[in-house]
Amino acid sequence: MARLIFLVVAVALVYWLLRRFRRPPPESRDVPQTEDMVSCARCGLNLPKSEAIASGDEYYCCEAHRRESKPE
Ligand SMILES: [Zn+2]
Repeated sequence: MARLIFLVVAVALVYWLLRRFRRPPPESRDVPQTEDMVSCARCGLNLPKSEAIASGDEYYCCEAHRRESKPE
């Protein structure tokens, strides 16, 4: 019985490895480093523009900081 379990685990492991090598995780390492960095107008944290929350011509690291700086 232990031998059967070992066989199943070995087959699953090989299957998993094959899948991993055939299809590498998309875009995990090839993210271009050219993205603009902006700093939060509230706390000064630097973050990529695409992750920042824009409000007018200022950027914030999170929704909370945007709300604290510019209450609506
Ligand atoms: Zn902030």
